[in-house]
Amino acid sequence: MSNNKRIFLKKVMTKLKLRYKNNLKSSLNFSSPWQLLVATILSAQAQDKQVNKATVKLFKKYPDVNDYLNLKPSVLFKYIIHIGLYKNKGKNIIAASRYINDNFNLKIPKSIEELTQIPGVGRKTANVVLSGAYNLHYGIAIDTHCITVANRLGLVKTKNPEKIERVLIDNVDINNRKYVSNAFIALGRDTCTARKKYCDRCVLRKICPSSDYKYR
Ligand code: SF4
Repeated sequence: MSNNKRIFLKKVMTKLKLRYKNNLKSSLNFSSPWQLLVATILSAQAQDKQVNKATVKLFKKYPDVNDYLNLKPSVLFKYIIHIGLYKNKGKNIIAASRYINDNFNLKIPKSIEELTQIPGVGRKTANVVLSGAYNLHYGIAIDTHCITVANRLGLVKTKNPEKIERVLIDNVDINNRKYVSNAFIALGRDTCTARKKYCDRCVLRKICPSSDYKYR
């Protein structure tokens, strides 16, 4: 079965890369690993567009990790007030800057183990930072879109992100590892949404086991 999954995923990725060729990078704006870390923390349960709108002003005024060490939460909140859960996220960002100062000499670490020690940083955020800022693809960031798509494609029968990540790591060929997360996210946003699947316009409709349009 694993071999079948590998062959299937290769076909899936060929079709998705063709369909979403301009959309295979994170749409969050950043110009340093720290900025990507902040943007990714802010993006949980929020739209990337909304995050970019906030960070354009935030990063202009406070670009670097050391700018946040003594930043008052109330000042940071003003920049991110339109993003859901902004108070928690803002507190985590300030705590993260202090942790990075105390433990990593103000450098954003390059391993999942170290990144996930930082307040507000889970495995998904760590994978996004490693991939987007350092071009390191040890893991695969799994968000809600990836969960929906992986289940509909019959790759997994679980909502557990770590189990899904494991299956993808084991079966996506190494050249596609850096694309799979954003490809699944793009498909999950416009075609295979959690609420409704639009199989009639999906590039995977002929090979997907959940397709309603396989033979049309
Ligand atoms: S064919 Fe349908 S169920 Fe399968 S990935 Fe596409 S939209 Fe989702």
